[in-house]
Amino acid sequence: MKYIGAHVSASGGVENAPVNAHDIGAKAFALFTRNQRQWKSSPLTKSSIQRFKENCEKFGFEARHILPHDSYLINLGHPEQEGLDKSREAFLDEMTRCEQLGLDRLNFHPGGSLGKISDEACLERIAESINTTLDKTHGVIAVIENTAGQGTNLGFKFEQIRCIIDLVEDKSRVGVCIDTCHSFAAGYDLTSDAAFNETFRHFDETIGFQYLKAMHINDSKKGLGSRVDRHDSLGKGTLGLEVFRRLMHDPRFDDIPLILETPDETIWKEEIQLLYSL
Ligand SMILES: [Zn+2]
Ligand SMILES: [Zn+2]
Repeated sequence: MKYIGAHVSASGGVENAPVNAHDIGAKAFALFTRNQRQWKSSPLTKSSIQRFKENCEKFGFEARHILPHDSYLINLGHPEQEGLDKSREAFLDEMTRCEQLGLDRLNFHPGGSLGKISDEACLERIAESINTTLDKTHGVIAVIENTAGQGTNLGFKFEQIRCIIDLVEDKSRVGVCIDTCHSFAAGYDLTSDAAFNETFRHFDETIGFQYLKAMHINDSKKGLGSRVDRHDSLGKGTLGLEVFRRLMHDPRFDDIPLILETPDETIWKEEIQLLYSL
């Protein structure tokens, strides 16, 4: 069974996210649990947490089909101490919020070297950031998203994600989210049966499907290997609908949140219906 949803708005309070997801016919959803463009956010209130849980129950959303995304400001591999400390503090807050909401996974972008340290040193910092955060929290899995490899961002190669996982002490609390747009932009082809199979064979060999905790379902505006992160609506970009048909028919993507981050939110409802019709 496929659990499809979108990254819905939590404006007015996290408790609104499950309502917004239900309104577009979603069986899964993603959300920000705090303002993603600010370093500081006020804590979640007791009533907001309670209403979030009530709404999830009312609309049938289980924790394993909900994928909170952390703030874009956080860089867990930051080359400078001040930026690293700030990122780790914010990441711990993000993890704690997930815990409070009864959620079991947090999606984040690994981070980047800003060209100031080696990729290896940056990957080590990312793993160390994950380790210290897992030590201070309980039950929430750190879900590393593969990136398009824009600028100095790491995590665009499966080997880099494997390297982080290898350095994480508690393997039961680390996972991966594969973004179809980012994969294609990073050079992993999905546009033929053979290419799709080869990309996921390589994924399984390098990382392993046991770590796959979510997918981001996006078409791409840019081409294979462009290293540019520009999402497009399904079937309107360079990936095309066949990619999503393959995914819908592949049981390896069952029972995890499949999240649309496509640019036109007015058609999310149709995109969800379209995916189920494939
Ligand atoms: Zn992301
Ligand atoms: Zn994504």
